[in-house]
Amino acid sequence: MKVTSVEIWDVAAAWRRGWNPVILRVNTDEGISGLGEVGLPIGNGHNAYIGIAKDLAEAILIGKDPLQSEAIWESSIRHVWLGQGGGMIFFAGMSGIDMALWDIKGKVAKLPVYQLLGGKTNPKLRCYASQVHFGWPNAKPANTPAEFGQNALDALKEGFDAVKVDPIWADEAGNRDGWDLNKVMTNAQLKLTYERVEGVRKAVGPDVDIILECHGHQEITNAIKVGQACEDLKCMYYEEPINSLNVDEMVKVSQNVRIPIAAGEHIYTRWGFRQYFEKQALNVIQPDLGVAGGITEVKKICDMAHVYGLSVQIHTCGSPIEIAAAVHVETAIPNFVIHENIAAGQAPENVAMCTPEIRVKNGSFTAPEGPGLGVELNEKAVAGYTKIKVG
Ligand code: MG
Repeated sequence: MKVTSVEIWDVAAAWRRGWNPVILRVNTDEGISGLGEVGLPIGNGHNAYIGIAKDLAEAILIGKDPLQSEAIWESSIRHVWLGQGGGMIFFAGMSGIDMALWDIKGKVAKLPVYQLLGGKTNPKLRCYASQVHFGWPNAKPANTPAEFGQNALDALKEGFDAVKVDPIWADEAGNRDGWDLNKVMTNAQLKLTYERVEGVRKAVGPDVDIILECHGHQEITNAIKVGQACEDLKCMYYEEPINSLNVDEMVKVSQNVRIPIAAGEHIYTRWGFRQYFEKQALNVIQPDLGVAGGITEVKKICDMAHVYGLSVQIHTCGSPIEIAAAVHVETAIPNFVIHENIAAGQAPENVAMCTPEIRVKNGSFTAPEGPGLGVELNEKAVAGYTKIKVG
């Protein structure tokens, strides 16, 4: 079997500003194709994702046997000049290709990917409603503590028993990123931050899990202050209290806050995670299949985490292709803790990109049972978007 061409779509979605999934399809001479997703649809970078996917397809994929995914992965960091230093964009390209190779592998074996990774360790994946401060399911951003509580309650109506919330996303007037968190917070800011999380706790009661998220926006003093202030609210974990560039600072936060610490969406490959494991900086890792190195790499990262007694929540915010990939990995690994589910991931326009529909039901996911990733591209849903073809 040989790879004959790669199609890459830039889904600059009209239905949601700033939502740009970059998806690819690897085609072979035996008529079997595989789907992958490059990077994350949020934030900026889709032009770079398309560029690296095209360059890597030309450099390491066309003409190769797609079943040799490990050799292809290895050659991309050994024999592609860009790959030797890595970086998010490069690893995003590798991730999308690797995802597609696993889809092909499963189709050849006539087995879902989770079976190739070890089987159904977790038949049902508990999910949390992620980023409820933005509103659930539709944009109704929360500002006051009561609004934070109401947004969490809206999510629970759909069957979730866990939510994630960012209490520093907006200032007291509701302006996004309105606080300069490089400066030490005022007591008034810290009080409102606490009260927003408290608003969620009061609304949902003691038994619903709350994940405290700070998106890496704080420097270390605020990270410790916010974490310590929220300790009595019994949060499940504290995500990206600081950015992930400095592992020693993450260790310091971890040692000073009595909430388990989570990070991973900005950490890539085994080499990136290694220092976090060795220094015991985290309790929960959150690698993203679209940037951390694909299924090949994330399975290894999860196994390394298991050695250190760490739990895994795959970071996910993509198209149904990336969600399906996450669900397959989480179904197989023993150290899965909970699945991330954002409202946009379940928006009808996003769900419609693939068949069969990938939907959360009553707060949980089960893995698709079709071969490979178990989803196929809905060509009509992507027909209007820019596509390039390599090969
Ligand atoms: Mg996050």
